[in-house]
Amino acid sequence: MTDATRVLVLNAGSSSVKYQLIDMVDGARLAAGLVERIGESNGRLAHTPRAGDPRETVQVFPDHGAALKAVAEELAADGLGLDSPELAAIGHRVVHGGQRFTAPTLVTDEVLTEIRRLIPVAPLHNPANITGIEVARSLRPDLPQVAVFDTAFHATMPEYAARYAIDKVVADQHRVRRYGFHGTSHQYVSRATARLLGKDPAEVNVIVLHLGNGGSASAVAGGVCVDTSMGLTPLEGLVMGTRSGDVDPGVVFHLHRVGGLSIDQIDELLNRRSGLLGLCGDNDMREIMRRADGGDADAKLAFDTYIHRLRKYLGGYYAVLGRVDAIAFTAGVGENAAPVRAAACAGLDELGIAVDPELNSVRSGEARVISPEYGRVTVAVVPTDEELEIAQQSFALVHGA
Ligand code: ADP
Repeated sequence: MTDATRVLVLNAGSSSVKYQLIDMVDGARLAAGLVERIGESNGRLAHTPRAGDPRETVQVFPDHGAALKAVAEELAADGLGLDSPELAAIGHRVVHGGQRFTAPTLVTDEVLTEIRRLIPVAPLHNPANITGIEVARSLRPDLPQVAVFDTAFHATMPEYAARYAIDKVVADQHRVRRYGFHGTSHQYVSRATARLLGKDPAEVNVIVLHLGNGGSASAVAGGVCVDTSMGLTPLEGLVMGTRSGDVDPGVVFHLHRVGGLSIDQIDELLNRRSGLLGLCGDNDMREIMRRADGGDADAKLAFDTYIHRLRKYLGGYYAVLGRVDAIAFTAGVGENAAPVRAAACAGLDELGIAVDPELNSVRSGEARVISPEYGRVTVAVVPTDEELEIAQQSFALVHGA
């Protein structure tokens, strides 16, 4: 058991499974891959071994069981089969941990039942996560399976940040409160930012801007999350690829009563046909910036709306924290879109926030500072690594660290 230093990280979505096999001795990726379109006629498995060429399999994967078995075969072909004694644990990303799961948790039948009980608050995510755990358990029943929750890092939010100002009895009855998501990323990035500053996480206040297809901001004081932009579901907060982020709840009543849309249609509208996509027909920031540069008014409006919302959270979290040591941009847009970073921080010199155009334009996969020397607040690009964080947390739990 002491020789077992590898962790398989599984991130099971409704029609996909992402995986990475990581050696905890040095954090090396031994293999990584993705199964897409599970349950559809054109399934695809893309497997990238550490050495050698990537492999692609196109076939039907009827369900998550078939997908995970195919993953196991790919790993076995590299001599990294699931039966390996070197495998210490399987770490699972679980989106919603409710109020109970505030730390990585060893999966038992009782834990699975509890994750199942949270399906009403995470109907799109938790069912797939549960299936991933069940299939992995059936493949290696003897191996520790660890659930790492997206909500966990936000469990430290003070009650006044976690509450919606609605009837307390109704809220408690239906578990309506702000849970927050992307927690594994916010945790990893806030720590990595402290490292970049050469400080202990307990010493620094950081605003983390996780800007991917989904997006969220968090205020982290001394390593502890004190507020985040997502709420009961991942719909609240920033303008995202296809999600609206904040809207007046009255919009829902209006669309239902006056617009004649059903609740399901409004749900679909706000989650899948809003955000950047709703504003301009594209949800990829690269394409939006290209169109906006070419004078496309819809793309320009989408970009400006995205930035305006981002700045409202930046300013809001500045006030929440009182003192800000660093702002960290991460995920697909945050790590790659220099114009987004520049626009988010423009004109904030009075707050000690500035971005150096030259440093901002550097392309690199490394964590890096993009603010000028004189800036009181360090602005940084800090690549996220949710899989490594899940692997580390799973390994630490199994080894009692
Ligand atoms: P997810 O939330 O799906 O994990 P990612 O963090 O991978 O998403 O971010 C995906 C998004 O990142 C894409 O939709 C795209 O808008 C954006 N993106 C990726 N590369 C670039 C780039 N070079 N410039 C601007 N945006 C980019």
